[in-house]
Amino acid sequence: MQTITQTHSHLSHLTCSGCGETHNAFKPQLVSSCCQLPLESQYNIDEPFSKKDLLNRQGTMWRYREMLPVLADENIVTLGEGFTPLLQLDNLARKYNLQQLLLKDEGQNPTGSFKARGLSMAISKAKEFGVEGCIIPTAGNAGVAMAAYCARAGMRAVVVMPRHTPKAFREECYWYGAEVHLVDGLINDCAAKAKELNVDGSLLDVSTLKEPYRLEGKKTMGYEIAEQLDWNVPAVILYPAGGGTGLIGIWKAFKEMQEIGWLPADIKLPRMIAVQAANCKPLVDTFYGMQANAKNYNGKPTIANGLAVPRPLGEHMMLKVLHESGGTAISITEDEMLEGIRELGKSEGLFVAPEGAAIWMAARKLVDKGTVSPEDEILLLNTGSGQKYMENVEGRY
Ligand SMILES: *Cc1c(COP(=O)(O)O)cnc(C)c1O
Ligand SMILES: [Zn+2]
Repeated sequence: MQTITQTHSHLSHLTCSGCGETHNAFKPQLVSSCCQLPLESQYNIDEPFSKKDLLNRQGTMWRYREMLPVLADENIVTLGEGFTPLLQLDNLARKYNLQQLLLKDEGQNPTGSFKARGLSMAISKAKEFGVEGCIIPTAGNAGVAMAAYCARAGMRAVVVMPRHTPKAFREECYWYGAEVHLVDGLINDCAAKAKELNVDGSLLDVSTLKEPYRLEGKKTMGYEIAEQLDWNVPAVILYPAGGGTGLIGIWKAFKEMQEIGWLPADIKLPRMIAVQAANCKPLVDTFYGMQANAKNYNGKPTIANGLAVPRPLGEHMMLKVLHESGGTAISITEDEMLEGIRELGKSEGLFVAPEGAAIWMAARKLVDKGTVSPEDEILLLNTGSGQKYMENVEGRY
């Protein structure tokens, strides 16, 4: 007789990223009531979930079902996100004498960026809580992803983005039936506008790290990296940091896998490197002690729209990851990003988002400086496809 093993979420509670206080995971939550800071999902790690359970599961981020926060299967709103390819960049590795250069291509997600992971999770949880509509201040990709998943869930979608965002982002939102508001300024100005548009609180604000679950979608990249490397991890991971959900999420995944025994407790975890645009580098400045924090930082627009986040709510969480992992932060200029797009295009056939180009240029610089060894296994996270950024890069090949 076949035993039917029930698959369910092992979600147990939420903790405040500021003070560690416990909060209820079974009612809708935004930032913590104690510190007004992001909440982190915690799971019953004693409940059995083995790597073998992954065999025969679908190639999406939902294969880690037990370590994800959605309680009922019928609430999952999916477009097949996750399990993106981990590519070897042998041509560039040869050119720069690097032993092992990998790129996880998140541009192959639904809506063309890794924002699909976070918004699939957040909208699924919104559906689980009976939410009727969502609102998001966005630099571009998050708004597109939210619009798509809201359409699929039958929810109202309100997207607030900077007026200078390339047209493709805005257009795609309209095609998903979203209401779009354009604001003069950056994402923090959009956040102020979103607050104004939602004074009655009828919409769920799914801003980066304001609700707890986009982080849980993004963390699946960490699980996938380990699984795709046959339960190993690279020496270095480079991540283009805006709000930082991916950086925080990947690190969270590694810690969880150590707790559930999927990675050895004594494994050397990767050094996590945050890459920002020279035009907007709040984290780099705080990391190097040029300011106490990013609360009053003013950034400029960049062709890497996703990196124009001057005052990230989860700055303390990103800094913690950089320090715990022995990583660093570095910024890349607009011209360098263009060079990176060209190089990845011409050498590897990849048309990456400027954010993805920035991490490749950061890898080159860090190897030059000796911060990263050419012997290290280096993993680049290309967070998005270049297609939507055409206006930013047009003709500059
Ligand atoms: C949003 C975005 C980023 C930054 O992601 P965070 O989670 O805000 O750090 C990087 N690259 C692309 C393509 C993005 O859309
Ligand atoms: Zn707190």
